[in-house]
Amino acid sequence: MLHQFSYVAPKSREELLDLLSTDYAHAKILAGGTDLLVNIRNGTVKPGMVIDIKKIKEFSGITYSKGEGLVLRPAVTINDVLRDPTVRDYFPLLQECGHDLASYQIRNRATVIGNVVNASPCSDMAPALLCLDSQVVLASSRGTRTVPLKEFFIGVKKTVLAPDEIVERIIVPTQAKGAIGKYRKLKRINGHDLGIIGVAVAVVNGHVRIAVSSAAPTPVVTEGLPMDIQVDEAVEITMNMISPISDVRCTKEYREFMVNTFVRRLLAEVRG
Ligand SMILES: Cc1cc2nc3c(=O)[nH]c(=O)nc-3n(C[C@H](O)[C@H](O)[C@H](O)COP(=O)(O)OP(=O)(O)OC[C@H]3O[C@@H](n4cnc5c(N)ncnc54)[C@H](O)[C@@H]3O)c2cc1C
Repeated sequence: MLHQFSYVAPKSREELLDLLSTDYAHAKILAGGTDLLVNIRNGTVKPGMVIDIKKIKEFSGITYSKGEGLVLRPAVTINDVLRDPTVRDYFPLLQECGHDLASYQIRNRATVIGNVVNASPCSDMAPALLCLDSQVVLASSRGTRTVPLKEFFIGVKKTVLAPDEIVERIIVPTQAKGAIGKYRKLKRINGHDLGIIGVAVAVVNGHVRIAVSSAAPTPVVTEGLPMDIQVDEAVEITMNMISPISDVRCTKEYREFMVNTFVRRLLAEVRG
């Protein structure tokens, strides 16, 4: 039988943060529910209360301004990102990764922030967001704080988010505008499947960045590397930051081989 919980849908940010300040111990945020509801159904998560955040008006929408950068709010779905003209023109790597996440139906519900908070090693949005040097804005009744995405992930399905905090926005900085990037995801089947590995390579603000998912406890990213870096050196830096395992989907050795291959191919593509 499905675990029983109460359902609330606050209409404002203040109402949400008030609720969390007292009930955080047994509450869970619901965005698209494509991870949360699966976890409730299989019994790995047993919240006393589910807080739906999609009724909060200011949590919708993607905006861009030079001062603030690209802002992705909590109700922004993957399909919102795929349809957005600003993302298409200036931050296309987000769309490259979004296209590879699940199926159209899932992408209609799944949010970018839900994907990041879920902190799966095989997150498809993380490689793009990491390459673009994104920041995560956390909010609670105690105030707000901003954390670089690469410091937000701390382990398999673990983040620095405190139990009374929400992710209020993801910010892709203006410096990443116009970044040229490519993403390759290796899957067992054609169509939608979780990644065996995912590699994004981007030229951001005059530097090369390489991000990898499914090859370490968290998605990982290099520092900005020189544009003229030797391919072998870029591969070595990437291989040193990953620690793949063998599992039901493939062996550690195959993951290493494919990361190596994708870095070489993508580097050639983005450098033209
Ligand atoms: C069939 C299927 C296929 C999938 N394929 C892929 C795939 O190919 N690639 C991939 O990366 N993922 C995949 N997923 C996973 C999933 O769709 C994504 O992780 C999705 O983006 C999660 O977003 P959501 O809005 O549904 O999150 P939810 O399920 O609503 O929430 C996920 C977690 O984040 C928390 N949360 C959500 N929003 C906030 C917030 N603003 N502040 C604080 N906490 C919050 C929730 O409490 C929960 O713990 C798949 C899932 C399914 C069911």
